[in-house]
Amino acid sequence: MIADEIRELATEQGAVILAHNYERPEVQDVADFLGDSLELAIRAKETTADVIVFCGVDFMAETAKILNPDRKVLLPAREATCPLAAALTADMVREAKARHPDAAVVLYVNSTAACKAEADITCTSANAVDVVESLPEEEVLFGPDANLAHFVQRHLPEKRIVPLPSEGHCPVHLTFDIADVEAGHARGDAVVCHPECSPEVQAAADLVASTGGMVREAPRCGAWTVLTEEAMAYRLSRLYPDAAFHIVEGAACEDMKKTGCDDILHALRTGEYDVQVDAAVAARARRAIERMIALPGRSR
Ligand code: SF4
Repeated sequence: MIADEIRELATEQGAVILAHNYERPEVQDVADFLGDSLELAIRAKETTADVIVFCGVDFMAETAKILNPDRKVLLPAREATCPLAAALTADMVREAKARHPDAAVVLYVNSTAACKAEADITCTSANAVDVVESLPEEEVLFGPDANLAHFVQRHLPEKRIVPLPSEGHCPVHLTFDIADVEAGHARGDAVVCHPECSPEVQAAADLVASTGGMVREAPRCGAWTVLTEEAMAYRLSRLYPDAAFHIVEGAACEDMKKTGCDDILHALRTGEYDVQVDAAVAARARRAIERMIALPGRSR
């Protein structure tokens, strides 16, 4: 079986396999650790493995490499990218900083290494509110997800959050609408949505949470409609087999689905694709990521 071959090779090579909650079920099953971006960034920082196989999209593997410059980080599917991260460039961040010289810059980990190098601190959907709250600046340039920026603004009305760019969105979470919330309620479910969903969906849902927050909150629910990438329901069902998790069919991230078990096997056999980040960019980006990881606080 391919899963056995992967596990054997990973052990031989001292490799750890990390996978995001949105990965295919068979990839989740073969991973050592599953998690959201924050949990995986912390795992990547703490691991002593010689090789990190990162099943996710490119910015996640880049983050692991930035935190582990001396380790080999492999992205099994080279073409797995993120359209949300691609919506923001380092030039755009620099221009915004020039226009808002007193503002802090907080960038979601769903951004390129070059953008992170321009940030004061990074955040994930799990800790975005805590990160912004920790800063002394009243004005905060926040990107690239405008809906997550809205979520932070709603929790911290004393801050002035400037979305950067003004319309950066995850195409998967943009597909949900009020009808999906109503359908969940009509089924008798509680509805949980990710903070990348629209402000209207956030307002109508019973809970807004990161995927890590969903894992922690799920034991308190009997039945949930889960408004995030569809693979999350697989993760939740494995953890809590007695609960019911409903998804919206077709809410799939095509980039997260680009990694299959054959790609992981190929990565372990060949060492492809070895993630590289320019050393100067990585050093500046590392400061912003480590500042986030060092922050004490709650996760949502
Ligand atoms: S789910 Fe959205 S934010 Fe996450 S990788 Fe896919 S496109 Fe990017």
